[in-house]
Amino acid sequence: MTALPLRPELAGLAAYGAPQLDVPVLLNVNENPYPPSPAVVEDIATAVRAAATGLNRYPDRDFGALRADLADYLAVESGVRLGPERIWAANGSNEVMLHLLQAFGGPGRTALSFDPTYSMYPEYARDTMTGWVTGRRAEDFTLDPAAAAALLARVAPTVVLLASPNNPTGTALPATTVVAVLDAARDVPGGCVVVVDEAYAEFRRAGTPSALELLDAHPHLAVSRTMSKAFALAGGRVGYLAASVEIVDALRVVRLPYHLSAVTQAVARAALAHRDELMAEVGTLRRDRDALVAWLRERGLKVADSDANFVLFGLFPDRHAVWQGLLDRGVLIREVGPPGWLRVSVGTPEETAAFRAALTEVVGL
Ligand SMILES: *Cc1c(COP(=O)(O)O)cnc(C)c1O
Repeated sequence: MTALPLRPELAGLAAYGAPQLDVPVLLNVNENPYPPSPAVVEDIATAVRAAATGLNRYPDRDFGALRADLADYLAVESGVRLGPERIWAANGSNEVMLHLLQAFGGPGRTALSFDPTYSMYPEYARDTMTGWVTGRRAEDFTLDPAAAAALLARVAPTVVLLASPNNPTGTALPATTVVAVLDAARDVPGGCVVVVDEAYAEFRRAGTPSALELLDAHPHLAVSRTMSKAFALAGGRVGYLAASVEIVDALRVVRLPYHLSAVTQAVARAALAHRDELMAEVGTLRRDRDALVAWLRERGLKVADSDANFVLFGLFPDRHAVWQGLLDRGVLIREVGPPGWLRVSVGTPEETAAFRAALTEVVGL
């Protein structure tokens, strides 16, 4: 056998990801359960056809038209108007965050987050040879601002990753907490970029702010968003962020040449043109989420407050048995989060009904 010079820290590691099983009811990866409407499909197909005529050429490297469309969308969605030069995009917000770690992490540096949180964060750190440190969220999955600030002062990270609404808990952070972290980051010698991952922002409850509102006062803040969840475009692979021009310029240095294909840009712009229809769907999912939370609580289960399109619930002495029992009944959810908890995505009314029926049988509610 020829030896392969694999990086020692990768030895023995398998590719990680949620199981992709062929099951009737898929409520395990927080996708939008509604496929694009025929009108959206038609416009995407037309846009891809037009893009195809120019595929002999490299795409617009700086995707100006898409950035302008994303800036318009954010202005409508959150009331925060930003110039297109403050928007960045990539193949999913996972790539956006990898760009952030490539630019602001690296050997001898540390990225910091707070568990329980998104399981991909340590992978961005590993892949960019950045050190990785986690603090803990409180028992109710909120973040204590003073404790977070103290940890920043001690660890002196160059990047802090905050998911809000958080995955897998659904918890959104109040602006006061994000500002406390931003203030502590400003005091880190050499500087520290705070990334607020708002993959689920569109699902936040009324009165929950977006960190976009903090951008103008904080040039070391980056707010990451995605078209994978609210926009029902997980298969399109489009994520983006809003930040200062200085941060965006740094990301332009580390991205691969022409990283966002002409087809991807065309698909994203066609979908964004249908934002009104997609936002109405998000309203339905938010109402169904609240109803699911109430249903689980009525049955005596513990449920974390959710500002996302999924619900973390428990506590089960043997959560794997509950997960397996649901799977045996054709319902796939996710075994994730602290011991005893399970996470279910909000599906169509039919899918959620199937989940409720299966859970009732398995747990004997
Ligand atoms: C789903 C999710 C994302 C989105 O990833 P994409 O690469 O944009 O599909 C980002 N952050 C969190 C916390 C998520 O759960």
